[in-house]
Amino acid sequence: MTETKGTLYLVPTPIGNLEDMTYRAVRVLQEVHTIAAEDTRHSGLLLKHFDIKKPLISYHEHNKDAKEEPLMELLLSGHDVAVISDAGMPAISDPGANLVLAAIDAVIPVVPLPGPNAALTALIASGLDTREFTFLGFLPKKSSHRKELLERVGTYEGTLLFYEAPHRLQASLQELYKYLGNRPIVLGRELTKKFETFVRTDLEALQKAEDLVTIKGEFVLVVGGAVHAESGAPETMSTDDYVSAVMMLMEAGTAKKEAIREVAKRLGVARRDVYNAVEAAQDT
Ligand code: SAM
Repeated sequence: MTETKGTLYLVPTPIGNLEDMTYRAVRVLQEVHTIAAEDTRHSGLLLKHFDIKKPLISYHEHNKDAKEEPLMELLLSGHDVAVISDAGMPAISDPGANLVLAAIDAVIPVVPLPGPNAALTALIASGLDTREFTFLGFLPKKSSHRKELLERVGTYEGTLLFYEAPHRLQASLQELYKYLGNRPIVLGRELTKKFETFVRTDLEALQKAEDLVTIKGEFVLVVGGAVHAESGAPETMSTDDYVSAVMMLMEAGTAKKEAIREVAKRLGVARRDVYNAVEAAQDT
């Protein structure tokens, strides 16, 4: 007789707006045997809202090693387990990754559900390059590690995505400027919530205007990639691309002049060329 193993489900939960819970997430949480939750009290409220009554096991950064064994026992004895974090995707700057590894080692099926994630939510509305990007999560705690990381990604041309806690925001913005130089930055604050805000500016401006950002709530930092001025614009860039990039920023709320300035900087081309392309497009 072959013993049937359970399935490990990775279930994203809303990052602020309960309407972002998917039908599938609700169904899976209703069907599993046990839910491993980062904070059982916090998740208890979410589960209550969706009328989900299941045994909860606390599974967080500080007990994840100890809790791996009982969770694996459940899975090995045929019970389905779902992992949820306080918000967004488990295993993204949240617990879950270790359990995924243990499950893979034990040939237990791992089923991820798509759903809310703060970094990608900020990225798609940022107006910065979405074709190539890298997610870096929270900056390391040790300053030597922060320096090492920022120097390493300093030449990367794609968009950089960071998480930051409000009490560290100002210090991190200073360090980003110190190691990356001036770059466009978009701060996505309180995403999906009542006071959702996007601040589109650059790192230099933020050094001078400390009050530009209301330091409250949760933030994603979307930072423009390195621009290699000597290489000029990529060969495939046409004036149409300049216009589309400017229009995208304008649609996202950036003033025309600022959008032209930002696009010229991002693409490493003369501001006049971008301006002329936009004027020509608007004349036709
Ligand atoms: N697992 C989550 C995800 O998939 O996005 C991330 C969890 S991480 C512990 C929490 C950080 O995500 C916050 O400090 C903040 O940087 C970011 N974050 C979470 N919710 C957010 C929101 N509604 N608006 C802006 N940033 C958010």
